[in-house]
Amino acid sequence: MCAGARGTLTPMSTYRPPVSDLAFVLEHVVGYRDIAKFPGYEHADLDTVVDLLGECGEFMAKVVAPTNQAGDVEGARREPDGSVVTPGPFKDAYHKYVDAGWGSVPFPEEFGGGGFPWSVNLAIQEMTASSNMAFALCPLLTQGAIDALLHYGDDAQKQRYLPKMISGEWTGTMNLTEPQAGSDVGALTTRAVPRADGSFAITGQKIFITYGEHDLSEQIVHLVLARTPGAPTGTKGISCFIVPKFLVNEDGSLGERNSVTCLSIEHKLGIHGSPTCVLSYEDATGYLIGDENLGMRIMFVMMNSARLSVGMQGLAVAERAYQESLDFAQERRQGLAIGATGKDSAIAEFPDVRRMLMTQKAYLAALRRLMLLNAVHIDRSTHEPDQLSRVRAAEIVGLLTPICKSFGTDLGVELTSLALQVYGGMGFIEETGAAQHYRDVRITPIYEGTNGIQAADLVGRKLAVRDGASVMEFIATMREIEVELADAGARFESIRTELHAQLDALEAATGWMLRTGPTDPNAALAGSTPYLRMWGLCVGGWLLARSALAGEAADDAEQAETQLVLARFYAEQLLPQAAGLLGAATAGSRDLFALDADGLSGAARLKRSTAA
Ligand SMILES: Cc1cc2nc3c(=O)[nH]c(=O)nc-3n(C[C@H](O)[C@H](O)[C@H](O)COP(=O)(O)OP(=O)(O)OC[C@H]3O[C@@H](n4cnc5c(N)ncnc54)[C@H](O)[C@@H]3O)c2cc1C
Repeated sequence: MCAGARGTLTPMSTYRPPVSDLAFVLEHVVGYRDIAKFPGYEHADLDTVVDLLGECGEFMAKVVAPTNQAGDVEGARREPDGSVVTPGPFKDAYHKYVDAGWGSVPFPEEFGGGGFPWSVNLAIQEMTASSNMAFALCPLLTQGAIDALLHYGDDAQKQRYLPKMISGEWTGTMNLTEPQAGSDVGALTTRAVPRADGSFAITGQKIFITYGEHDLSEQIVHLVLARTPGAPTGTKGISCFIVPKFLVNEDGSLGERNSVTCLSIEHKLGIHGSPTCVLSYEDATGYLIGDENLGMRIMFVMMNSARLSVGMQGLAVAERAYQESLDFAQERRQGLAIGATGKDSAIAEFPDVRRMLMTQKAYLAALRRLMLLNAVHIDRSTHEPDQLSRVRAAEIVGLLTPICKSFGTDLGVELTSLALQVYGGMGFIEETGAAQHYRDVRITPIYEGTNGIQAADLVGRKLAVRDGASVMEFIATMREIEVELADAGARFESIRTELHAQLDALEAATGWMLRTGPTDPNAALAGSTPYLRMWGLCVGGWLLARSALAGEAADDAEQAETQLVLARFYAEQLLPQAAGLLGAATAGSRDLFALDADGLSGAARLKRSTAA
């Protein structure tokens, strides 16, 4: 607890899981009831899911959230023998997490999972990451590795690894990055040499491996990208291997230690509780997943779900920061608000503080709707009985994934900064916890494919789907709401007019991208980041408008008012940025490259003035 003249602060462990908003979004905004009708999901009806999320929220608030600040202060540490110790409270929380089975919820029942839709899992991931992002990374990476094995592992591999990974007794990692191979994964050089017994000898160094070594589980299953002898260059020649920390005996028990060692862990800006490891593989025993040279395809399975999850991390950390800043704003007293009586006012009564609170709340609502929309389309793409609907759902997942990742994490940084601003000077002081959220979330626009790479994916690959028809259909779907908004009356009018204008801007930018991209890809890439932001703003505005209409239809006056105010505030005060970005999205690359190296550094000017 922080207190005193600096403002009365609530305990940092306070976290209020947003279960009622999650339930509202699932039921009224993203069509979850349809998902529960698909074959295989009959047991996951909305009431059951809301109960499950309620239980999960309670667990996260009580067990995981209180470990957040302690984990940051203590951090993970590497011992001289190469072992890695996580912060004190993590172990107990992790064992309780495993006992409760939260990591197993979305996986097939035949391997011990709960068989729930991915959308339910994403809601669980939000509450886990809000509680403690550094802690949540361990199950998150494990879930990515499970997904890859489910899709591409052979039967023996699935039987051997999945039950214990799904239960959480074993954890998983994702090993792509090497010193010379970051965004350019194709530059990796780790070698995989076949052995007579069918296994491979893996040799190389991987950097930045999240939970590459730790003490939360008895076994770590590394998924490692490497090249076999004679493999093609670039991404076409990459294969994916299971490299367990301990070899697994025939009976499933753990055998001898594999030759993978943790050389060091990084000292980072944030997520101090999450060990980020340099791993050395020296003739380590690895087992090929799928066929040789399929590595990138396998990693994409992991990366696509991980990209949405990382977008969700942006939302999750910002949600926790918002809640704490709101508590502070209601308690901290300074000056007298206009029209107030008495000695002083809570700072929440000042219009500019309200602006900061409402901006956080409206963006968070938009992001939650965007993430869950993506997740229900993942469920549709795997469980819709109709094949054409499955294909369309997969297209929408492809479109929304880079938007969720970038818009979610860019806003994660901006909103945690805004939350910190609400505290004034105390935001800059570590004890409030506001600074930790700001530091922790900063990695999210960087890892799992930087946001620049996401924007390139949007304009390069996603716009090209069916020569642009796929994205244009999505925009047309968003436009259908305009008629409903017009019918809903005057209170919805500004939402309708703003959405109309901003979708016009998005359509204009999309047309420009589709015309320009094929002939001048550099120009399209130059505008890709502002263009992606336009998408995020517009989809968010559309989903909040849907919420407002759904709120109006539901028999709950308070809910109706909240949804309307959020949609209107967003439409009038945040959404108009989309049209403001049209110029940057379509400006082309001329001025980005107009200055040479000397011009960028100012050296040319300096040379001239020195000569004069
Ligand atoms: C805390 C942490 C945890 C991580 N966890 C893991 C993990 O578990 N497993 C793993 O494999 N990796 C992990 N990473 C690595 C992470 O995914 C990479 O840092 C990231 O992909 C960026 O690579 P890089 O750092 O080499 O940056 P670079 O690729 O060098 O990029 C530098 C800058 O150039 C830009 N850039 C590069 N290429 C392009 C391009 N073609 N177009 C436009 N812009 C470009 C980038 O957007 C960025 O702004 C982690 C990193 C950190 C810091």
